[in-house]
Amino acid sequence: MVKNKALFLDRDGVINHDKGYTYRIEDFVFIDGIFDLCRAAINAGYIIIVVTNQAGIGRGYYTEADFLHLTKWMCERFEQEGAPITDVFFCPYHPEYGLGDYKKESYDRKPNPGMFLKAKEKWGIAIEDSIMIGDKESDMQAASKAGIGIRCQYIVDGSDRVITSNANSRMYELRKGLLSSCFINNKNSITNCT
Ligand SMILES: [Mg+2]
Repeated sequence: MVKNKALFLDRDGVINHDKGYTYRIEDFVFIDGIFDLCRAAINAGYIIIVVTNQAGIGRGYYTEADFLHLTKWMCERFEQEGAPITDVFFCPYHPEYGLGDYKKESYDRKPNPGMFLKAKEKWGIAIEDSIMIGDKESDMQAASKAGIGIRCQYIVDGSDRVITSNANSRMYELRKGLLSSCFINNKNSITNCT
């Protein structure tokens, strides 16, 4: 059986501008270029998988239903843009600030690799041929522990909370990299790819 290779994406700070605990459609602003990037990845033979920590659920800022409602809308937007997302994995727990049953250590919560390994199992993913794009060190650590071959940290002016137009140009840079396979052959052309 031929295995799938995947482009794994963190959500906040990669797909949408990270405004902190986004859960409403009206607050969800796509980073310009994300659809182009995903179309390019699909054309290059990758499936798209989202892996996102959602401790806002555990903290009681919004519900799992809120998250799923937003996710359904987000996936429909990707579908409309010709870049369908294959699956979305999320972790609602937080070891310190989770309320009730949500207060626990989870192997799924990045920097742990659980979500990647579940995706690998479910979709038959060749993990070493796969790519992870995240904006935090914990994304890179989780991807590394899972054995993801290509890990890119998407940095917006050194802080994922700072929103600048630079986010958009960086996304195009990543897409260019993906198109020319320099993710694999010329990693130096993209900052923080390992
Ligand atoms: Mg993030």
